[in-house]
Amino acid sequence: MEETGAGPKGALRRALGGLRWERIDCLPYKEDGAAPFKGVSRQILFSGEPLESELRYFEIAPGGFTTLERHAHVHAVMILRGEGRCLAGEAIYPVRPYDLITIEPWAWHQFRADQAARLGFLCLVKARRDRPMLPDAGDLAKLRANPEIAAFLDGR
Ligand code: MN
Repeated sequence: MEETGAGPKGALRRALGGLRWERIDCLPYKEDGAAPFKGVSRQILFSGEPLESELRYFEIAPGGFTTLERHAHVHAVMILRGEGRCLAGEAIYPVRPYDLITIEPWAWHQFRADQAARLGFLCLVKARRDRPMLPDAGDLAKLRANPEIAAFLDGR
């Protein structure tokens, strides 16, 4: 696991503007390449065994989206920048800065930036967590039975 806590250079990592920070790498959203997503970057702000959790900052480019997935672990999200929408379970929510979103265990979820704006958010998770599951054809059919969710998944 990457350790991005305080290092030999001290406890402070200054904000650089533009929601970047000193000594924090801007990483691809996911490494495995198997899960669909578009235009998402990841910065790990805090992590490590003593903390038992990780705080990440994700940013989605205009028109981009995170992977549609679900898992046992919970996400605690605070929007920091931009405009977009979030699917959480059965509901779709418009989101804007400083909104708080809880993704409950096993709730399908996806974040989408608006076409004209990026969407940036903090996401708190447990350090030890299960791997996300992707929807199969049956799961997608169930989700798409709701016309609002079908439109959301199509980026409309
Ligand atoms: Mn997730």
